Amino acid sequence: MSDEQMRNGETAPRRSSGIVEHYCEHPGCSSWGGWGYSRLKDAPRWFCYAHRDEGERYIGRHDG
Ligand SMILES: [Zn+2]
Repeated sequence: MSDEQMRNGETAPRRSSGIVEHYCEHPGCSSWGGWGYSRLKDAPRWFCYAHRDEGERYIGRHDG
């Protein structure tokens, strides 16, 4: 059992709850993936603003 006690005035451990780190999936791009695209039953894919078109193509919003 691990007790994690949070004392007043101390910052919480970096292990955030519920927040997933997801960066842009474009090769070589390390921007934050603020745009998530998910298809049925598939894990969501994330892209940054500059590459969000790839995500839209992934979910089929754009033809071709
Ligand atoms: Zn990107």
